[in-house]
Amino acid sequence: MARYPVRVPVIAAVVSVVACSPVSHPSQAASPAVAPVRVESLTVPVVRSAETERDPRLMTRPDPFARLDRMDWPPPSKVREASGRPGPEYWQQRADYDIVATLDTTRHTIKGHVTLAYTNNSPDTLRYVWMQLDQNLYKPGSAGSYLFPEDTRFGDRGFDGGYEIQNLVANGTRAASEVSGTQMRVQLPEPLAPRGGKVTIAMDYGFAVPEHGSDRMARDGPLYEIAQWYPRVDVYDDVRGWNTDPYLGQGEFYLEYGDISFAVTVPAGYVVAGSGVLQNPQEVLTAAQQARLATAARSDSIVRIIGEAESRPLATAGTKTWRFRAQHVRDVAWAGAPDFRWDATSWKGVLTQAYYEWPKAGAEWARAAEETQWTIRTYSQFVMPFPYPQATSVAGPVGGMEYPMLVFVNYASQESDPNGVFGTLDHEHGHEWFPMIVGSNERRYAWMDEGFNTYINTFSNEQRFPRNYQWPEYIDNWKASVLTGEQRPLMTPPDRVPPEALGAIGYRKPAAVLLALRNHVVGRAEFDHAFRDYAAAWAFKHPTPADFFRSIESSTGKDLAWFWRGFFYTNDVLDIGIDTAATISSDGRSIAMIQLRRHTSIPFPVEMRLKLSDGSTQDVKLPVDVWYLGDRYTATIPVHAPLAGIRLWPDGTVPDFNSSNDTWGSAPPGDKMGPVTTGGLVSSMNTHP
Ligand SMILES: [Zn+2]
Repeated sequence: MARYPVRVPVIAAVVSVVACSPVSHPSQAASPAVAPVRVESLTVPVVRSAETERDPRLMTRPDPFARLDRMDWPPPSKVREASGRPGPEYWQQRADYDIVATLDTTRHTIKGHVTLAYTNNSPDTLRYVWMQLDQNLYKPGSAGSYLFPEDTRFGDRGFDGGYEIQNLVANGTRAASEVSGTQMRVQLPEPLAPRGGKVTIAMDYGFAVPEHGSDRMARDGPLYEIAQWYPRVDVYDDVRGWNTDPYLGQGEFYLEYGDISFAVTVPAGYVVAGSGVLQNPQEVLTAAQQARLATAARSDSIVRIIGEAESRPLATAGTKTWRFRAQHVRDVAWAGAPDFRWDATSWKGVLTQAYYEWPKAGAEWARAAEETQWTIRTYSQFVMPFPYPQATSVAGPVGGMEYPMLVFVNYASQESDPNGVFGTLDHEHGHEWFPMIVGSNERRYAWMDEGFNTYINTFSNEQRFPRNYQWPEYIDNWKASVLTGEQRPLMTPPDRVPPEALGAIGYRKPAAVLLALRNHVVGRAEFDHAFRDYAAAWAFKHPTPADFFRSIESSTGKDLAWFWRGFFYTNDVLDIGIDTAATISSDGRSIAMIQLRRHTSIPFPVEMRLKLSDGSTQDVKLPVDVWYLGDRYTATIPVHAPLAGIRLWPDGTVPDFNSSNDTWGSAPPGDKMGPVTTGGLVSSMNTHP
């Protein structure tokens, strides 16, 4: 889903407020700094002090909806290993679909028939199957309509729709079902056997296409962007069983993998862009268009498949059916319009394409095929090779939304930013890695979806625009959510995060803390390797948060419980400061004695730049272990001249929220702001540092 705009007015206030530090707790000195926080608990206040009792922003908010089981962090097993990798008995269900649908552009409806071939690889016998009816978000009185006001991004804009379902059968027999909001339980006529049992579920369905489908699908004039458009099976996994969390609007998706064939019938003058590979080009494209497409598949420069003249709407009578097939995917989506321009190029055999109405979509869209190619190449080099045959960008009213091999990106801004399309397009294609390839539960853990994606987007953006540094935006946005009291622990499901804070909690705080982990805790090359290792181990699978945490610890060889607890399970912030410092002489040597204090529950390795009386500087790094014995630590550092001043975090990219205690004496200057992704795109793939 598209990145969130930073709330500029709030941030302007933040910058001035930070110095007076609502996040330091001076009276805490007398009491233990760290209250015992169980990692699986979301309800224990992080820091107990007079300040936190008064200031709820500093506490982990009690969440009465938090699960009581260990869904986030199940114990290691033969399914999920202690090393964070899938175990020898890892299993997941398989969902193959065959969909036939017709778009009625007069009534703005979809009518279709879906056949789900479902394979039960679990060790359990299943007596029913839960399916997702996302369109029911638009039924009057839906749970989502109460949660998200109708005029908001995920609201229903007063649209009345929802699925109509008929002729539901399982293995050819009429099946009973019960609909509960956006979920439907299909009763199986016979129990579905474990470890390979198969059932075929089929139904006719239809729905009215919303103009604003919670910014995930839409229509605009003759253009249709179609998603959440067929009933999809819920994930059945080893940590929750049936994952029946409703579709409320803000929380995204959790889906099974399989192969999907779909045929969409549209007015004959329409061009359709879809997930997967077009199966019948000879029926829907001219000979010249097919030849251009073949050229584009071998070229790394842009080929115009449908140019200006051919993109004018034709009043062609009748209909055409476009057939697509997508393999190893968790979903499919498509878009259709009578007036698309269509550009394509390729990279290492991956066709990268852009479909847009001209000139309506805006000038930058003429570069979108190259931008698509750029993102696919960049993330292939940084995370893992793109495994699909094509990647498509479509211009339309949806602000930004991702599907396998296909993303919806907003029209170019007519005003200012000449690279506005790139920012969103790069983000949406980044989602091909998280969560399209690495299939986490987005409805529960936005940080494994938007957060991981924003993290990798940092590398892409700093590569494409080398002086456009990403760190200040991330940290300011996170601070804003702290100071407005809207912050929630990263482990909070996105539907329970205030919409104003989703940009911070879903996207920028997780990106910032992962960058801090890489650059200041475990090391750049080590983290890049560990991150790739995690992605490769869980490609086309369903990792939990614990699988990520364990995988990173195992690869880097570090116990990072303090890091996950502090930054993922609590609302607390980092605030380490200098109490005082002095230079003593001993046996003719000078020793700097620096008294440090940790003002919150979160420890961190300490980075200091010392300025000595002769004007020279000396950089010092202390391991996180210095906080083992409490909230104070005196560093003793040999120096060749008396200490004149100190600056903590000299490179400016450690998320310490209180800068007022980060300097002492005549502090040396910090570094100028620079990139936070150094080394990220040069280390070679699949080689351990
Ligand atoms: Zn996103």
